[in-house]
Amino acid sequence: MFPSRFRYQAPHSLDEAVSLLHNGGDYVKVLAGGQSLVPMMKLRFASPEMLVDINNLPGLGYHRADPDGSLHIGALCRHADLEFSDLLKGTQPTMAAAAPMIADPLVRNRGTLVGSLCHADPQGDWASVMMALGGSVIAQGPGGKRAIPLAEFVTGPFQNVLSYDEIAIEAVVPKALGVRSGGYLKLERRVGDFATVGVAVAIETSGDKVVRAGIALTGVGGSTIGATEAAAALTGSPLTADSIDAAADLAANAAQPRTDHRGSAEYKRQMVRVFVRRILAGGTTAHGVSAERAA
Ligand SMILES: Cc1cc2nc3c(=O)[nH]c(=O)nc-3n(C[C@H](O)[C@H](O)[C@H](O)COP(=O)(O)OP(=O)(O)OC[C@H]3O[C@@H](n4cnc5c(N)ncnc54)[C@H](O)[C@@H]3O)c2cc1C
Repeated sequence: MFPSRFRYQAPHSLDEAVSLLHNGGDYVKVLAGGQSLVPMMKLRFASPEMLVDINNLPGLGYHRADPDGSLHIGALCRHADLEFSDLLKGTQPTMAAAAPMIADPLVRNRGTLVGSLCHADPQGDWASVMMALGGSVIAQGPGGKRAIPLAEFVTGPFQNVLSYDEIAIEAVVPKALGVRSGGYLKLERRVGDFATVGVAVAIETSGDKVVRAGIALTGVGGSTIGATEAAAALTGSPLTADSIDAAADLAANAAQPRTDHRGSAEYKRQMVRVFVRRILAGGTTAHGVSAERAA
């Protein structure tokens, strides 16, 4: 299939890009990696009048740790940049575990983390990871910048809170309150597939106590699910076999899976339970559990 006709603009400054969105007409879309938007256009699920290609905007390909301990991921940072990042391997175990599990190498070379958050696919892996980490999106519009916590950014399947004339310029992970650990596990039918079930866990430990926890679920509901009760069950005390079991059960209860060709709802719920337990039982070292595929 071919997309409908559209106009194409490739601005060289952020101001110009925002202005094109503001003045461009009824249905204008930002083009980042194109790995979700282009297939949607070819299938005619999306038929924008105009694309604003942001790939020529300078200085958005970064991911960096700021002196205050926060991590910043620019709108043109590709999945592959994160997959091969030494920075993530040392400091962000949940992100480091997830990066190699996004799609396949071709998609990872072009697709962006920020684009994935904007696309808001319930089966998108990055939204769960960023939600578990308490991340946020920085949006730039004609009136300036605003920060939107991930928990408020995604409003439903393929929907986010960005206004028509805003560009998400970066994603931010806040400074850890303690030693970070965690991981991401994904059940997929074959390597490179979208998640049947994905679980992101991010733990911050000070002494032997968990001082912050985040758990979020991919592919088991109409949008990314923050398992907040499960995370709360871990916070304020050391990780024990009992607290891990309680969190795993609460996360399984938070899932809203549907039976389909990938498996029954009960099977998917059980996989959430197993993944939470498996990641948490991996320990609380700075490097967390290793990424693994549960084929
Ligand atoms: C074969 C295949 C397999 C895949 N498998 C997986 C997978 O296993 N897991 C997974 O998570 N994803 C998967 N994806 C999706 C992939 O990760 C995309 O890269 C990602 O969803 C979108 O990022 P992008 O940069 O390509 O965005 P684009 O496709 O360019 O844009 C996607 C949407 O977000 C909007 N957008 C993008 N960037 C911005 C911005 N900065 N500001 C405002 N709006 C913006 C666009 O307007 C569009 O609506 C797969 C894709 C393919 C083609």
